[in-house]
Amino acid sequence: MVIVGGGTSGAVLAARLSEDPARSVLLLEAGPDDAAYPEVVRVPEREYDAILSAAVGVQWGVPVGAASSPTLFYRGEVLGGTSAVNFMATVRGQPDDYDGWAAAGCDGWGWDDVLPAMRRAETDRDFGHQALHGDTGPITVQRWPEETWAACHRALYDGAVELGVRPVDDINDPMQVPGVGVFPGSVQASGERLSVSQAYLDAEVRARANLTVRCEAPVARVLLEDGRAVGVELRSGEVIEAGEVILCAGAIESPKLLLLSGIGPAGDLRALNIDPVLDLPGVGANLQDHVGLGCIYHRPEAETLVGSPAKTVLVGDTGRGRGVDFHVLACPISSSEAGGTLFQVFVFHLLPRSRGRLTLTSADPAAIPTLDLPLLDGDDLDDLATVVELVGRWEQTAAFAAIGASRLSPAGDLVAGSASRDGMRALLDSSTYTYFHQVGTCAMGPDDDPDAVLDPHLRVRGVDGLRVADASAMPTIVRGNTYLGCVMLAERLADLMA
Ligand SMILES: Cc1cc2nc3c(=O)[nH]c(=O)nc-3n(C[C@H](O)[C@H](O)[C@H](O)COP(=O)(O)OP(=O)(O)OC[C@H]3O[C@@H](n4cnc5c(N)ncnc54)[C@H](O)[C@@H]3O)c2cc1C
Repeated sequence: MVIVGGGTSGAVLAARLSEDPARSVLLLEAGPDDAAYPEVVRVPEREYDAILSAAVGVQWGVPVGAASSPTLFYRGEVLGGTSAVNFMATVRGQPDDYDGWAAAGCDGWGWDDVLPAMRRAETDRDFGHQALHGDTGPITVQRWPEETWAACHRALYDGAVELGVRPVDDINDPMQVPGVGVFPGSVQASGERLSVSQAYLDAEVRARANLTVRCEAPVARVLLEDGRAVGVELRSGEVIEAGEVILCAGAIESPKLLLLSGIGPAGDLRALNIDPVLDLPGVGANLQDHVGLGCIYHRPEAETLVGSPAKTVLVGDTGRGRGVDFHVLACPISSSEAGGTLFQVFVFHLLPRSRGRLTLTSADPAAIPTLDLPLLDGDDLDDLATVVELVGRWEQTAAFAAIGASRLSPAGDLVAGSASRDGMRALLDSSTYTYFHQVGTCAMGPDDDPDAVLDPHLRVRGVDGLRVADASAMPTIVRGNTYLGCVMLAERLADLMA
């Protein structure tokens, strides 16, 4: 079988499926091998440098909602995928998220089904002994110790407590949140980043006779014959035959590969001179993301950053009766900013109602597709306003005053600005950010859902021998960071295929 994409989900799946010596697995990755990670990727404190230099990834601007300037989007293109460039926050989402998938017809994906897969993935150095966590998995997880916090992490944590938010030990324990706590990070004992390929595809796994990892091999399309996937074609023109193809190319590239292969909304495909093989309207639809406001602050004191920029987080509930529905986090931008320190405070809405769409702009496999993200309007905007108002109140706390920071952007009073939709739109105009959590573009769903691209075994409906297993398979976004969900999807699929 061929797995396309050696990223967060693909690396897990290649490792798990090749545990069975009877299976022959070829993992095709578009980017270079993980041995080639540059320093900006290996060292967590260089996170922003990694993103802004697009060291091992693809960076592009996407118009989001009414914001006048495009929002920066990014994805890793290297073995390990986006886990090699992300903020390493190892967060699960809420049990209701997964129970919601199961209730919507995705049998086998409820919390009780997915929790064992999450536990199997991790070695939690802080809470591994507890029933909720794992202590034998490939991904080593630990919460950032207080001595590594920057001033903005401390100010967010203490300021939230001042505002009455409960401090919690473990933000992955659903019984403890909402509250303010510390991000669990995926790091090696040396303090360097631990990407998913480093965790799962170690030397011993890569030495398996039935596993081949081939990097710098971008796939152009899936080859189909008589309703069945029979292989893939690389962008170089090389054809590789396979009995089964599993796409793990991520929420942008997996739907793109289906569309380029003639699977998707037939009218859109014809408009690009791609022969429709299967009319599946859900391919590229149902795009979801955590989008919100990012404020930039300056403080006169210079600081040396240690570890990931994302350390403390307020996991909140706007009180709409849905439980946890936002994150507020503070991130130092630079480790040694001349003339002081810049940091950002982000407010992200975790339960957006808005849905966007991914469409191709051309039949060229190298072209970046268009993302239409009509987020941040209506009720989503009102929810976000509640949290922006909270950040405005945080700016009035003693903890905030103690670090001597002033906001550079957006301009204006956050409490007053968040009081109206026009005020919120003005704040968001140049300060809209994504949490980089795109999901849902090849969603799984029940048989009677015409928009479901995948069945609950992640098989593409109407085609034999073809699955999608990555962020695009999530029917609804989870209320946490998405990387561990992608690991879980692959672990779970390995169970289902066993
Ligand atoms: C800057 C940033 C910070 C983030 N921070 C966090 C965080 O702290 N915590 C968190 O939980 N989530 C975070 N996320 C999101 C999270 O990392 C992603 O949701 C998750 O890693 C996606 O996993 P995936 O398997 O769907 O895709 P990916 O990990 O992106 O894997 C896709 C792989 O497929 C390869 N590929 C693509 N196209 C082709 C092709 N045509 N042929 C062959 N290979 C191909 C890619 O090179 C890549 O290796 C962040 C994302 C970004 C961009």
